[in-house]
Amino acid sequence: MSETIEFQAEARQLLQLMIHSIYSDKDVFLRELISNASDALDKLRLESYRDKDLEVDTSDLRIELEQDAEARTLTVRDNGIGMTRDEVVELIGTIAKSGTAEMLRQMRESQEAQAEDLIGQFGIGFYSSFMVADRVEMVTRKAGAAEGVHWESTGEGTYTLEPVADAPQGTAITLHLKAEDAEDSLHDYAKPDVVRRIVKRYSDFITWPIRLLSGEDEGDTDPVNSRKALWARPPSEVTDEELTEFYRHVSHDWQEPLETMRLSGEGTFEYQGLLFLPSHAPMDLFMREARRGVQLYVKRVFVMDDCEALVPEYLRFVKGVVDAADLSLNVSREILQQDRQIQAIRKRLVRKVLQTVKALQENEPEKYRTFWGELGRAFKEGLITDPDNREAILAASSFPSTHSADEDTTLTAYKERMPEGQEAIYYLTGASRSSIENSPHIEAFRAKGYEVLLLTDQVDEVWTDTVSEFDGTPMASIAKGDVDLGDEDVPEGFDDLLSWMGTELADDVKEVRLSSRLTSSPACLVGDPGDLSPMLEKMYRAMGQEPPVTKRTLELNPKHALVSGLRDKQGAGEADPDVARLLYGMALLAEGGDLKEPTAFVNTLAERLQKTL
Ligand code: ADP
Repeated sequence: MSETIEFQAEARQLLQLMIHSIYSDKDVFLRELISNASDALDKLRLESYRDKDLEVDTSDLRIELEQDAEARTLTVRDNGIGMTRDEVVELIGTIAKSGTAEMLRQMRESQEAQAEDLIGQFGIGFYSSFMVADRVEMVTRKAGAAEGVHWESTGEGTYTLEPVADAPQGTAITLHLKAEDAEDSLHDYAKPDVVRRIVKRYSDFITWPIRLLSGEDEGDTDPVNSRKALWARPPSEVTDEELTEFYRHVSHDWQEPLETMRLSGEGTFEYQGLLFLPSHAPMDLFMREARRGVQLYVKRVFVMDDCEALVPEYLRFVKGVVDAADLSLNVSREILQQDRQIQAIRKRLVRKVLQTVKALQENEPEKYRTFWGELGRAFKEGLITDPDNREAILAASSFPSTHSADEDTTLTAYKERMPEGQEAIYYLTGASRSSIENSPHIEAFRAKGYEVLLLTDQVDEVWTDTVSEFDGTPMASIAKGDVDLGDEDVPEGFDDLLSWMGTELADDVKEVRLSSRLTSSPACLVGDPGDLSPMLEKMYRAMGQEPPVTKRTLELNPKHALVSGLRDKQGAGEADPDVARLLYGMALLAEGGDLKEPTAFVNTLAERLQKTL
């Protein structure tokens, strides 16, 4: 009994894209299918180790590519874990991968040509079959299950499912190749040479044998691939191209990696690792359900994907493989979190990544810029969550600053530029460079020639609260606390004004005092160290939480005519509370803040202006 089912809306969209694709590198469909087959074999082997009662044949695990030149079909067959009917519906009929909805939104907004770039950037797995086939059939049987299922689709909206009584174990995917590719001798996938070349190029490192079966030479059962685990081979024997294809296999990314890293340990704990930094941010980098971790192998046997025990959250973009010698194949994720060996490897892995980023920063500025632009915001989370490595993370980070309009600076370079007398690394946080660059808080620092870091990522609001120094030099927000730039004597005669204003503005500010950080603005607002910054308050509200009320201090510039004029009026008993309110509002506006009652502010201002006409 056959049933017809509709693809989920997002899946339909992706398929349309595939069918009409002009993506130039169609060969990659085979890499995707072989990658899936290899994963299915890994999973079956592991399952059979763990479940001794599972009735499966693991004596000849392999991938077969069978061609029929006359019928123009190519079948990719594995005898791996297989899928149940429900798994087929869920895994093939829908797109569950986080971030894909976002990707599709981008596609909808972009022109057709850019859609091709998106395919190249994010990959589309099994669906890439529809770049080369106008009809795809799949027969699959889950390991241990009695019955299999036949799936078929032209990719146009629906697919059919039908039970199969005598399906072999594993999955066979048959592509009915598009007629148009027959004329292209380099891309005619019914030809053995074409397929052999693609396997060598994209899938050589796959550790399972890949055999070519094509009507003509039935006897040829030598694997096409050389099957060497890349991480176990000496680095000098591995080409960049092999590394790139391996990276694509483990990361499901279609781009080249930015950097390759190797790990190895001998002695008490024996392990090897082959790790990668991606060249662009994964789609789900800032999603709650983001995937994290590397693949874990035990003596060449695949144990799990996304082993989060090996990688801290702030390095969730690191991809690759760790092969540990002395673990049980039965380890659970919970046990791994406690395992001493895993903890030791994780420590080394973190150190390796930090060293690699630092080395890029020092020696390969182009690559470092790419890394930082794509992944810096995640990387900086480590300043909060990994206190043991804080200094190394700070050293490998870079920040925009008043020193240059377009080049970020390292903290080390900042320190080298510090003039005599400057005692701290100064920074200001806020929503955007343009809004904080001209904030009144910066005036006196500019005048003294002190550089200020301009920190505009949300994560900056948080880590700056916990990091108090770098390399022996304190770090200080110029919008918080008292600043003492060591200048002049405190001007006198303002005490009455300050206490009068303090009373007038008691609902809004904690205190009113004179400022040494202002040169041209009349007033600014400053918090106490540890206070929530205005930006953090906004972040709380955006998350639907009401932040605790923080009153800040209003600082007045005694050299400003408005302030000294107000002092004189107040001394004569003629000060107008409206002017105090206006000064407070101006300070808020100058830092890019929001007025609580904008209409009242504007009305008062209009009234005062009118008097001057
Ligand atoms: P991806 O491989 O990136 O997860 P795919 O669309 O290629 O995305 O595949 C979706 C899922 O379908 C896979 O994650 C896997 O669970 C399942 N799958 C695909 N091919 C096979 C196969 N040959 N054997 C078993 N499961 C498979």
